[in-house]
Amino acid sequence: MCGIVGYIGYREAFPILIKGLYHLEYRGYDSAGIALINSNGGMNIYKTKGRVSELEEFCKNHDVSGTIGIAHTRWATHGEPNNINAHPHYSESKNLALIHNGIIENYTVLKKQLIQNGYHFQSNTDTEVLVQLIEYIKELNNVDLCTAVQLALGQVIGAYAIVVMEKGQNDRFIAARKSSPLVLGIGKDEFFIASDASPIIEYTNKVIYLEDEEIAIVHRHESPKIVTIGNIEKTREIIQLEISLSQLEKGGYPHFMLKEIFEQPQTLRDCMRGRVDITCNNVVLSGIIDNKKQFCDAKRIIILACGTSWHAGLIGEYLLEEFCRIPVEVEYSSEFRYRNPVIYPDDAVIAISQSGETADTLAAIDLARKAGAFVYGICNVVGSSIARNTHSGSYTHVGPEIGVASTKAFTAQLIVLAMMSLCIAREKKTVTEERFLKLLKELDRIPDKVEQILRTDESIKNLSEIFTYAHNFIYLGRGYNYPVALEGALKLKEISYIHAEGYPAAEMKHGPIALIDSEMPVVAIATDNGMYDKVISNIQEIKARNGRIIAIVSENDTAMKDIADYVIEIPATEDCFDPLLTIIPLQLLSYHIAVTKRRDVDRPRNLAKSVTVE
Ligand code: GLU
Repeated sequence: MCGIVGYIGYREAFPILIKGLYHLEYRGYDSAGIALINSNGGMNIYKTKGRVSELEEFCKNHDVSGTIGIAHTRWATHGEPNNINAHPHYSESKNLALIHNGIIENYTVLKKQLIQNGYHFQSNTDTEVLVQLIEYIKELNNVDLCTAVQLALGQVIGAYAIVVMEKGQNDRFIAARKSSPLVLGIGKDEFFIASDASPIIEYTNKVIYLEDEEIAIVHRHESPKIVTIGNIEKTREIIQLEISLSQLEKGGYPHFMLKEIFEQPQTLRDCMRGRVDITCNNVVLSGIIDNKKQFCDAKRIIILACGTSWHAGLIGEYLLEEFCRIPVEVEYSSEFRYRNPVIYPDDAVIAISQSGETADTLAAIDLARKAGAFVYGICNVVGSSIARNTHSGSYTHVGPEIGVASTKAFTAQLIVLAMMSLCIAREKKTVTEERFLKLLKELDRIPDKVEQILRTDESIKNLSEIFTYAHNFIYLGRGYNYPVALEGALKLKEISYIHAEGYPAAEMKHGPIALIDSEMPVVAIATDNGMYDKVISNIQEIKARNGRIIAIVSENDTAMKDIADYVIEIPATEDCFDPLLTIIPLQLLSYHIAVTKRRDVDRPRNLAKSVTVE
């Protein structure tokens, strides 16, 4: 996820673009860049690694004149964050400059063809392919820029929001989108384009939201023209925005955390895109395929993580043991690094971290590498320290996670672990082909099911209001849902400051059941899976001691309605994918309880997003 912004009009573009980038920085901030066309038609491009402030500083001694320009703040998906990979990218002749948000899935094939046709590449990005392809098509067919963009996008598979400018053409830019947002701002004698309306709203509240496969030709002296990739002209309604800037950055949500919870159907799809292919019945994780021997021959897998990622790791243990039949140990990185652990060269180590900067996990990776083990990273931030210090890995591709309490990164970590398990299991032949296909199809259905659960938000909100009195909470689950109980409790602790504990349901009677009284809310995950009857018995034990039970159950469960005080229904799925669904109501419950208690949900006290200290 990146932020893109463009301007054409009567004012100097630079200050508008820089300010716009600051507004969009929540979408990515590993590098930034700007391209401006001055009054002589000359194009200046400046790019820097790091934040927008670094770009602004860098530009101080350079020519930033011009009333047309495009700018980008990056969240890398392909190619580490550095000056060269930063956007804008330019074409072979340096006549075209382009910014992009999204992923071009078939970029390797296109790149190969362009190289064969004499094109040279500077960066490792998928984006550079786009700008080169547009120029190649433009020259080959001797067509104008808009036609070249249309023809190029016709060859592209993937997601994009792009803006392209041409040297010598300071009267026009061209924008297009598919699966990535783009808003066109209509001012008086000036036009704006951006990933969301936050860079625009200060200047005009009249906007057009471009739709998929639409291209906007934005001319200094004319009304913008909108056509499709297939060249059908469109008339789009101009919308008058009536929201504040701060609402816009959060996409209309009151908090980033809620926005990120609601993004999950999309982030899970993004995480699986190009990896889970149900038409070819395949799951392709290049990091696993390139290193299959390391995993297939491993005598043991060690998972290293902290916090929420550690909970994902526990679910990973269940998945890898069930499907790949490899023994797994899940370790807190902070404990592992200091306890002189036994590590064998034929161990495969998986390190999980959203930021890829978790200090304890980095140190634990170091230890494992020194002992000769193969280390695989699962992180969200491209080019992060963990991504660089591991032998191989998979990114979760969920875009920046800003809410301190992790939500969308957690579910994507689970998806990656599920894909890894299926990939290795197929390779080792530890699952039958029939089961593999069944699981693959179900994995593909998960985002829709998450969407279905999110539609019950209002009733979860109402429920949460009942429980703001509580000073303690207990969360129970068994099997795959035991780590979900831990994660549910952590979410509540983090943002509402209510004390909460997660337990494997059957462990209650070994001590914690002493805590139960009529004041104690118990969240029990009791979905219709192999452990259902066992969990019901555990819940009965709590009921007998007057505990107040909120049960997460599969839809159409009737038995639990008689036992629990409150019931939240979710769609049924395979046992092993249950956590991807059962965590959603728990995220919402914590969020609403914290909001009702007027907590600072996105910046809870004492916490930081990425823990770069031990
Ligand atoms: N794929 C592009 C890059 O890595 C754009 C990234 C994005 O939109 O997140 O530079």
